[in-house]
Amino acid sequence: MEIVTRSSRMRAISQKLREEGKRIGFVPTMGALHDGHLSLIRETRKMADVVVVSIFVNPTQFGPSEDFEQYPRDLARDADRVATLGVDYIFAPSAEDIYAPGFGTWVEVADLSNKLCGASRAGHFRGVCTVVSILFNVVRPHFAFFGQKDAQQSIIIKRMVKDLRIGVEIVVCPTVREIDGLAVSSRNAFLNPEERQSALCLHRALSRCSELFAEGQHNAALLSQEIERVLSTEPQAKVDYVAIVSIDDLEPVETIEKNPVLVALAVWIGKTRLIDNVVLIPLQS
Ligand code: AMP
Repeated sequence: MEIVTRSSRMRAISQKLREEGKRIGFVPTMGALHDGHLSLIRETRKMADVVVVSIFVNPTQFGPSEDFEQYPRDLARDADRVATLGVDYIFAPSAEDIYAPGFGTWVEVADLSNKLCGASRAGHFRGVCTVVSILFNVVRPHFAFFGQKDAQQSIIIKRMVKDLRIGVEIVVCPTVREIDGLAVSSRNAFLNPEERQSALCLHRALSRCSELFAEGQHNAALLSQEIERVLSTEPQAKVDYVAIVSIDDLEPVETIEKNPVLVALAVWIGKTRLIDNVVLIPLQS
């Protein structure tokens, strides 16, 4: 496994791999690698000849009052964690390498980027799409793996790839959870033991929603109400949003009839903002 820090070198490696006919699988991350990331890497290993994992805490996707400075960083530990998973390259560039002086090009997926998480994190998805475009151009993968945990991100990246005719196949992998249901996240490290317990309300609310849906409740307003009710039983939880939306355009739905819908939440637990989601699939779809 080689750790590559310059995009010029990474680009030269991927160019050579492509000339050799190798299929490159890519997992973009911000590091602080956990079981969710490792599951993406394992899936990549199954499909690709060469596995590239990027570790880059992307400054342009954080707002001025967000946790960019506090975000956990430990490259040596991350390298250890993936050492036995068959990762060929870790691409860990500096911010100066990715955003060279004079940098001025941005990629933005209109509409989808202003909804759900985009409504409270202005510019977040513009930063994500820009860095993912750069990483795709440097790593030149055949496949790129993303987690369902960040459902809106996957939907936006898929749209970007389609609109811009970027020749990368996007694969979305299921959310990995702790044994008690909490979605694994680098931000869980910010929770104190009490908050960690409170954070279970996200999974509880989504499970209750899935249960009601399975019992035949397809009215989105009533499902939302029940989610809010479950969340309100947790005094530490402050809801950012609860959304029941189409998985194509993230527009709210009233009744879940034919097509799968995304039920997505963002909830503050103390100073930590957590997200989670579930997809409801009507039987006839
Ligand atoms: P991040 O390092 O948070 O930017 O995440 C990098 C990738 O890992 C993204 O595609 C995330 O959706 C994915 N990911 C994060 N948490 C999980 C999880 N619990 N299960 C599956 N994928 C995840």
